[in-house]
Amino acid sequence: MTQPLVKVDNLKMHFPIKGGMLGKTIGQVKAVDGVSFSINKGETLGLVGESGCGKSTTGRMLLRLLEPSEGKVYFEGQDITNLSASEMRKLRREMQMVFQDPFASLNPRHTVEKILEEPLIVHGMKDKKERKRRVKELLEVVGLSSYHAKRYPHQFSGGQRQRIGIARALAVNPKLIIADEPVSALDVSIQSQVLNLMQDLQKEFDLTYLFIAHDLGVVRHISDRVGVMYLGNMVEITESEKLYEKPLHPYTQALLSAVPIPDVTYQKERVVLQGDVPSPSNPPAGCPFHTRCPQAMEVCSSVKPVLQEYESGHYVACHLYE
Ligand code: SF4
Repeated sequence: MTQPLVKVDNLKMHFPIKGGMLGKTIGQVKAVDGVSFSINKGETLGLVGESGCGKSTTGRMLLRLLEPSEGKVYFEGQDITNLSASEMRKLRREMQMVFQDPFASLNPRHTVEKILEEPLIVHGMKDKKERKRRVKELLEVVGLSSYHAKRYPHQFSGGQRQRIGIARALAVNPKLIIADEPVSALDVSIQSQVLNLMQDLQKEFDLTYLFIAHDLGVVRHISDRVGVMYLGNMVEITESEKLYEKPLHPYTQALLSAVPIPDVTYQKERVVLQGDVPSPSNPPAGCPFHTRCPQAMEVCSSVKPVLQEYESGHYVACHLYE
């Protein structure tokens, strides 16, 4: 069996809540509460869930932009959880991030050339001519032209700005790209262009993606496998086709029932979830989803289900499948 590029083991991010005159810790926000998964080389793992479910926090912990409270992250078999800041800086060459809002993530006072040169300088490309050549190459790779190098971010459309964000991530030839809602801020017509570009680049450069989105419709075509998160927990993970054809977890079923289907002759029943997502500072006992689950049973309010393999490669955390 090939070794996964990334492996995450029981990862937790608990943010302390401070209070009182002395600023003592009086509680914790359990943003991520023990997730485990792996991503194989060349694969795209989609990570979905409502906002606040911990998917972006998980992505940031993989890059150690946030320090996990507990758990391990392995990259190419190496435990990177305790690497020093300088060791991590070297490793970030292999792991890059594409952000949701391309405008906010690009410095408005810098030209595109300067934006793309920055990671090259950080990672030791000293020769200016070489950097200019690489900037030109990167712009072409993402479907822009060399004359765009002298322009500023505000002179581009949203889709073009996301292309610049992708070019910046590609600058240092990474192996892994964590794309955090990369198309959520774009018009639907532009979303597919950016998704197609990402797929083409994946083939060309043998990239591995963690693709984070709140919308199951968006991750469907780009993901080989999809993981569904709810309130800091991974509740289901399997191959993309299996998840869409036979979702097991009641939360996944509800999310999927809200995804529009192009075939107007096909009517599907919409599962409308009652209530709001509980606060991660005070998550419910037992199954985190039991306060909204249409199929909740007595056991669900006291015993937390464990993510386990229901059928080959299809994992679910729900008492219905035990
Ligand atoms: Fe619903 Fe119970 Fe399954 Fe949780 S464990 S998803 S509450 S049936």
